[in-house]
Amino acid sequence: MGDLILELRNLSHSYDGKEISLNNTTLAVNKAERVSILGPSGSGKSTLLRLIAGLEKPYSGTITIQGKIVSSVNQMVAPEKRNVGLVVQEKALFPHLTVAKNIGFGIRKNQEKAKIISDLLNLFKIEHLLNKYPHEISGGEQQRTALARSMAPDPELLMLDEPFSALDKELKEELYAELDQIFKERKQTIVLVTHDLDEAKVLSEKQINLENT
Ligand code: ADP
Ligand code: MG
Repeated sequence: MGDLILELRNLSHSYDGKEISLNNTTLAVNKAERVSILGPSGSGKSTLLRLIAGLEKPYSGTITIQGKIVSSVNQMVAPEKRNVGLVVQEKALFPHLTVAKNIGFGIRKNQEKAKIISDLLNLFKIEHLLNKYPHEISGGEQQRTALARSMAPDPELLMLDEPFSALDKELKEELYAELDQIFKERKQTIVLVTHDLDEAKVLSEKQINLENT
């Protein structure tokens, strides 16, 4: 067992106080571990990531990140103080910012900003796009940029919510191979939401099925 990064205990959520959207989920993720969450549409996969990101407050249960309780019924740590990143399916980029500025948006360490941006441009093979705006680049390039942006603040935990569903098969497979390498090299802890078992197997060591309750 490595260092525990994320721990969910008996986590439930309800958007309206009545219908339960996520029922009593328990999960532990160690440093550098990559876990996929599978489950049919409506089973609460996105809700789970939103809870971990601090965008929703749990109905019951607790979320612990790096040993500190960040969410419970009576305790909420702000999203920006959780050291987590979230990449969603689409429209994730700021349309009025260039690729380089999008990537730099969340970086707080000012002295290192230029280097972090250039390293990520390089890592995701988008150096040539640095001055382009999101509408000037392809869907695959947009997702590379979104991934680079989410990694720029060096989050302890990176969460991906079906980030490849808008891409065609060839692009996906190319990106899987690159990401697999990038995540391993950086020992990035990942929670990936997908409904694609093949994708889950390529990008994670552990697959968890979220039951539709
Ligand atoms: P998944 O990502 O697995 O498709 P979601 O987490 O998006 O599932 O949704 C789980 C359940 O919560 C669904 O029944 C959905 O309709 C409901 N839900 C999701 N977002 C909201 C919301 N903002 N307000 C009310 N209900 C929601
Ligand atoms: Mg979803």
